[in-house]
Amino acid sequence: MPEAVFQRLTLIGLGLIGSSLARRAMQTGTIAHEIVACDASPAVCTRARELGLAHRVEQDPVAAVAGADCVLLCVPVGALGAVAAEIMPHLAPGTVLSDVGSTKQSMLREILPILRQDVSLVPGHPLAGTEYSGPDSGFATLFEGRWCLLTPPEGTDRNAVAHIQKLWHLCGAMTREMDAAHHDRVLAIVSHLPHLLAFTICGTADDLADETRDEVLEFAATGFRDFTRIAASDPVMWRDIFLNNREALLEMLARFMEDAQAMARAIRWGDESFIVDRIERGRAIRRSLIEIKQA
Ligand code: NAP
Repeated sequence: MPEAVFQRLTLIGLGLIGSSLARRAMQTGTIAHEIVACDASPAVCTRARELGLAHRVEQDPVAAVAGADCVLLCVPVGALGAVAAEIMPHLAPGTVLSDVGSTKQSMLREILPILRQDVSLVPGHPLAGTEYSGPDSGFATLFEGRWCLLTPPEGTDRNAVAHIQKLWHLCGAMTREMDAAHHDRVLAIVSHLPHLLAFTICGTADDLADETRDEVLEFAATGFRDFTRIAASDPVMWRDIFLNNREALLEMLARFMEDAQAMARAIRWGDESFIVDRIERGRAIRRSLIEIKQA
């Protein structure tokens, strides 16, 4: 048997992210010798068995974590605290507990007060995804060439951090450590605000008078169409992200509204150079993303 980072890895939550991790772990064999998968939904458990996502699939999280040396929580961020509280007394001493949640300060706020001294907490967030959810939407290459940000609290066992880094490297991802508050501010601008705008613009189009709305759908060119792709994301996941990163998101939204007002003013007064400058800045950002292969 090849060397593996963990003996038994338990994944809780088998949606896009959990099922992608499960597929990768089953494929490589070097992330863990045994993969146990768990989801609260009986239908998802049945589907996970049909898809062969793990060596064992359990609906009960307590049974799922028994004997695991790594437990990775892949549930919506609003469910993290309750799941962690349920499994905490049943984790084996020395277990590495991690997650993939999109907001990190809220996760630390909920889990640090209940964290056992003999369990290491290494929160993570893979910057990879699609607008699809559920166990059928995952794929083993989802994390290839993507970043996974780790936000271990001060004093976390470095060996546990190294193990989680290795897990993500075996998924094809690159890792970087950062402070949870910094993570939440960065993500508010690169991910949470764009989703807020996409949901809002689709709502605005939908509120338009009937005949205009039909035309919006019929003639949706790339601009609106690209927004609808982002707006197709899972409602529970995004509700939880907005509510769990409230301060940073509202701060970025206020900044954005000021800048949008400045653009509106430039359009009203025909300030051509301001308008061109803003558009050129957008193009430059797109070019940089393509250069660093994150487009
Ligand atoms: P998803 O496809 O909606 O899957 C979440 C799964 O967790 C569902 O099967 C859900 O079951 C299950 N679940 C919910 N509450 C549970 C509980 N208490 N116990 C066990 N299972 C539970 O979501 P996802 O896209 O994989 O996202 C999972 C996590 O990854 C979230 O924290 C999200 O913030 C983070 N993330 C997502 C992306 C992305 O682009 N999608 C990217 C990076 C990180 P039900 O369907 O029955 O509720």
